[in-house]
Amino acid sequence: MSLVDTHAHLASSRLRDDLDEVITRSREADLCRIITIACDLEDSVTNLELAERFDIVSPTVGIHPLYVHEIESDEWEKELQELGQRPGVCAIAEIGLDYFHPPGDGSSEEEWRNLQRDVFEKQLQIAIDLDLPAVIHQRNSAADVTAVLRNFPKARAVLHCFTGTMYEAEQGLELGHMLSFPGIITFKNAVEVQEVAAQTPLERIMVETDCPYLAPVPFRGKRCEPAYVKHTAEQLARLRGLNSEEVAEATTSNATRFFGEPS
Ligand SMILES: [Zn+2]
Repeated sequence: MSLVDTHAHLASSRLRDDLDEVITRSREADLCRIITIACDLEDSVTNLELAERFDIVSPTVGIHPLYVHEIESDEWEKELQELGQRPGVCAIAEIGLDYFHPPGDGSSEEEWRNLQRDVFEKQLQIAIDLDLPAVIHQRNSAADVTAVLRNFPKARAVLHCFTGTMYEAEQGLELGHMLSFPGIITFKNAVEVQEVAAQTPLERIMVETDCPYLAPVPFRGKRCEPAYVKHTAEQLARLRGLNSEEVAEATTSNATRFFGEPS
């Protein structure tokens, strides 16, 4: 049974030059699907092209909270809605709130957070209208993300790159959402998130690389690519006392349930 990397930034300039080899290595590592995530509308269009080029790739479209100040068109909602209806699109991603990085445009912290929240809420509504799941980015913003998600009970979401506390995990799980664990669970010092990964119900877990970032051990610090998701899945198996096959089967069927069958 093969694995799904549920969060890869294949449109990234750091993966562009050898993307054919990256995809080949993913197939060799027994991946059956790579969900490519967008940070802005330009990425969204690139993701659609990549899905045409590689049958293993499923595209998402969306605007990351750290790129909201770069939105140029007043028509962005309409554009995103149109992109979201293109064949194969499997999620609105990635969207959310990031309070870790300073305002990208010199605005006040309050204005920056308000803009992020506005764009996040509008995209959640688009996801609901299009009957698509949403991939959520949160950093130093878990309480506000939970508050927003509570206002959108029809949303189906995954808290991606989950590295939070057990309490934050429970908040998301109680609302019916999924958690996706990155290569960080292979890091020796990541004891708290390892505990969360061991305790979360198996049917609510997915695995991801977030490549080109966050390569798991033994590639820590190097450029990451989808093939490395195998190491994260193996660590998840160790943490839960399961074999790799059981983890692959569960996380892949969770990904199919969440994102739908690949088209
Ligand atoms: Zn990401």
